Amino acid sequence: MTTNSDCLFCGIVTGRIPADLVARGERAVAFRDINPQAPTHVLVVPADHYENAAELAAADPEMLAEVFTVADDVARAEGLTESGYRGVLNTGAGVGQSVFHAHLHVLGGRPMGWPPG
Ligand code: 5GP
Repeated sequence: MTTNSDCLFCGIVTGRIPADLVARGERAVAFRDINPQAPTHVLVVPADHYENAAELAAADPEMLAEVFTVADDVARAEGLTESGYRGVLNTGAGVGQSVFHAHLHVLGGRPMGWPPG
């Protein structure tokens, strides 16, 4: 497993930093966002440390696929099958990425506008 000792989400994956876990795949972990922007706001992260989704895709496409599979499991468990959910991948500080360990935001449970802000 590739971890970065300075990384918040690596700390959550390894259990060093507490989080409200909602699902765990073989190589992806889902936990509630500490500052939720919707009734369901879960972050799904790969177990290994990659700065963003594109880096993960290039290095380990199967792990990226597992992130999306776990996200869909979470949405079903949260009762979002009918209403749907939004997946967000912020890539770069310019669009709001603040934690540089790839993560998929899973948001649902309220009406959402388009385009996003
Ligand atoms: P980004 O802005 O990088 O796309 O998303 C990072 C997300 O991590 C933010 O939505 C933020 O609220 C969340 N976050 C930051 N620190 C923590 C933490 O310590 N625990 C949890 N569960 N979420 C966090």
